[in-house]
Amino acid sequence: MPLDPTRWEPVIGLEIHVQLKTKTKMFCRCENVWGEAPNTRTCPVCLAHPGTLPVPNRQAIEWAIRLGLALDCEIAPRSLFHRKNYFYPDLPKGYQISQYDSPIATRGRFSVPGPDGDREMGIVRAHLEEDAAKTIHVGGEGGRIHGAGASLVDFNRGGTPLVEIVTEPDVRSAEEARRFLGLLRQTVVELGISDAEMEKGSLRCDANVSVRETGETGYRTKTELKNMNSFKFVADGIDAELARQVELYEDGGEVVQETLHFDPRSGRISPLRSKEQAHDYRYFPEPDLVPVEPSPELVGRLRDELPELPAARIRRLEEEIGFDLALGLVTSGRDELFARVPGDDRRATANVLMNQLAGAGVDPARVNADELAKLIAARDAIPRAAFDEALAASGDEGFTAERYLAEAAITDEGEIDAVIDRILAANEGQVQAYRSGKEGLLGFFVGQVMRETQGKANPKVVNERLRERLRA
Ligand code: ADP
Ligand code: ZN
Ligand code: MG
Repeated sequence: MPLDPTRWEPVIGLEIHVQLKTKTKMFCRCENVWGEAPNTRTCPVCLAHPGTLPVPNRQAIEWAIRLGLALDCEIAPRSLFHRKNYFYPDLPKGYQISQYDSPIATRGRFSVPGPDGDREMGIVRAHLEEDAAKTIHVGGEGGRIHGAGASLVDFNRGGTPLVEIVTEPDVRSAEEARRFLGLLRQTVVELGISDAEMEKGSLRCDANVSVRETGETGYRTKTELKNMNSFKFVADGIDAELARQVELYEDGGEVVQETLHFDPRSGRISPLRSKEQAHDYRYFPEPDLVPVEPSPELVGRLRDELPELPAARIRRLEEEIGFDLALGLVTSGRDELFARVPGDDRRATANVLMNQLAGAGVDPARVNADELAKLIAARDAIPRAAFDEALAASGDEGFTAERYLAEAAITDEGEIDAVIDRILAANEGQVQAYRSGKEGLLGFFVGQVMRETQGKANPKVVNERLRERLRA
């Protein structure tokens, strides 16, 4: 439900959490893994036993800087950890170690290519913190605390390194938020610092939403949508909230600042009652940790090691195949394969990779690009089902296109002869002409047979049989 753009302009700022895939947790040496049996990856430090002390994870700090640099941020020569105090079962210390007024990275920007060119989104900050444990509410509706009979806590997640990225309110539509997230996701995946999977919670996004009248310069009151766990839900949630706010204003009402929950099944938005509403966290510097002071040499090395980022590749590819295909290829991690597949019809190749290979569940890194190119070149000559089957096998060890193309083609001579008979009978004039020397007409007959068989006949057999039948 897009807003009337002549009247209302969306204003959106995102807060994104990225779990770092370091071997160990942020402040202890527990293994940092997902999906293990609950409470099997814990120790006295991450369970907050008295007398334990945190030791920062060097890898996590370097990766946070790496991400900060990819977001074109300034890296602070000195940043601090703070204690963010609140009382909740997912936080055994009673506080979360986070960063507050001196984060590791500030004032960056992230370029988001779109159909009308690039839009630059300001990055307020990116800071390091530890994740809370995971609470699982049982007996309630959809895993929410409301109506639940019990809440279970899995401390495996507690202490996982997190980077929180906060954008300026520069995002102007739900679709743009989705594109931003897709690009950011691909960026952290390529930086090698996170698997960034929303369904596993290793990438999480909250959206701050307000609207203003077109042309208005100030910002209005925002609401915050929490914990949407897929790209689609983020976009749907934002659209629903934009519509709700516009309706409120148009009815003469006001938006109140609050934290909201979007239910993707009903599409409904409701206020969230939780720890998140309590705003006084009593931040103070963490006395058990020294400031983070990365040397200029370290920051310089991390900057030199940055790869070309997805946004830049989209811009390069856009020239060749158009914006949508470029975006799709890059955000799905298929553009590396695209570059390896030879062939002149680049749009056709991009289309196959995006619309067919993606659906076939093939790991692009395993695909033999030359064989895939042969398959793509022959795609109009074989039935769709055979093409799909071949495509699904294109990541298999020892895959050859030829095997599938040969199997898919009609090679049965009897079947081909029957078609040839019909064609010859229907084109007596051309048959006479051929027999009196116009042998160039062979191509005409081949074309007729291929059309009649919808391209399935093996061209080699067709040629042989036609020559033979026309000789008489
Ligand atoms: P808070 O103090 O409520 O945490 P911040 O100023 O820290 O607010 O901003 C948090 C997030 O909200 C940022 O992503 C920011 O871009 C976004 N934001 C701030 N004001 C607005 C607004 N009026 N409309 C939409 N988003 C906003
Ligand atoms: Zn631990
Ligand atoms: Mg804030």
